[in-house]
Amino acid sequence: MGVLVRIVLYAESKMLADQAAEDAYAEFQRLNDMMSDYDQDSELSKLCENGGCQKVSPDLFAVLKEAKYYSTISSGAFDITVGPMVKLWRRSRRQKVLPKQKYIDTAKELVGNHLWTLDEEKQSVTLLKKGMQLDLGAIAKGYAVDRAFEIIMKHGITTQLVDAGGDFRVGTAPPEKTGWRIDVDGENVLTQNIASATSGDRFQFVEIDAVRYAHIIDPKTGLGLTHHCTAHVSATTAMQADALASAACVLGKEKSRELETALNKQGQNVRIQVKESE
Ligand code: AMP
Ligand code: MG
Repeated sequence: MGVLVRIVLYAESKMLADQAAEDAYAEFQRLNDMMSDYDQDSELSKLCENGGCQKVSPDLFAVLKEAKYYSTISSGAFDITVGPMVKLWRRSRRQKVLPKQKYIDTAKELVGNHLWTLDEEKQSVTLLKKGMQLDLGAIAKGYAVDRAFEIIMKHGITTQLVDAGGDFRVGTAPPEKTGWRIDVDGENVLTQNIASATSGDRFQFVEIDAVRYAHIIDPKTGLGLTHHCTAHVSATTAMQADALASAACVLGKEKSRELETALNKQGQNVRIQVKESE
């Protein structure tokens, strides 16, 4: 996942905390091995390589199902089929030149929420075009945080923080405190029982001809976002926060607010803050 994972636990004994942390880290490793698009042997890479209709593991199915949901509610701003565009972006970053239009056009043919389907009963996924590449970079980290969090809960530890490169989830407040003191974009907040994620162009970008292209892709243009934005999301689960933060960057301030309102009307407890600058 390319990030540092930090786990903080308050437990009855060090032994218990060590065991819980070890199991949680192992879960990160397991999910990384499954969902990495860098590793050609990951389940995700194999799925894309083989194409067509395939049964997938329960974890991968769970993430794909959520990814479909976020793609739908964000009108395609969030889209895990951006893989071919991400590959072009990574090449641009290495070579410091924009991809040729013909490569962008080829990538566009392989991107879209309508190009893949899920079958709940068969636990299968169908990729409708050959060459499609799914990229779970905007959601898998959140999923892993949630799974690690659950594993720690199973060890009986509720006072915990699981932080994967700034996307985190916290449990109950540490002893004699009213919350976890968290730094979110320079602001110090006290919080508990919540998940949070931050996305934006400050974290990874490539600059070409004085234009900054973020690592978050606008599926419509095939290029990294060029409007400067940072999105903070707090939500019940880290996966929600992770996916929504990435989506919010593509959607921009106005549409993100509409999405936030719609989700809260459905009873979800989400807060989406988007900061845009020139
Ligand atoms: P995050 O840091 O959570 O915002 O995730 C960014 C990563 O998600 C990128 O490095 C890509 O791997 C992937 N990605 C880029 N653009 C999109 C998009 N529009 N929808 C879903 N995933 C994306
Ligand atoms: Mg994300």
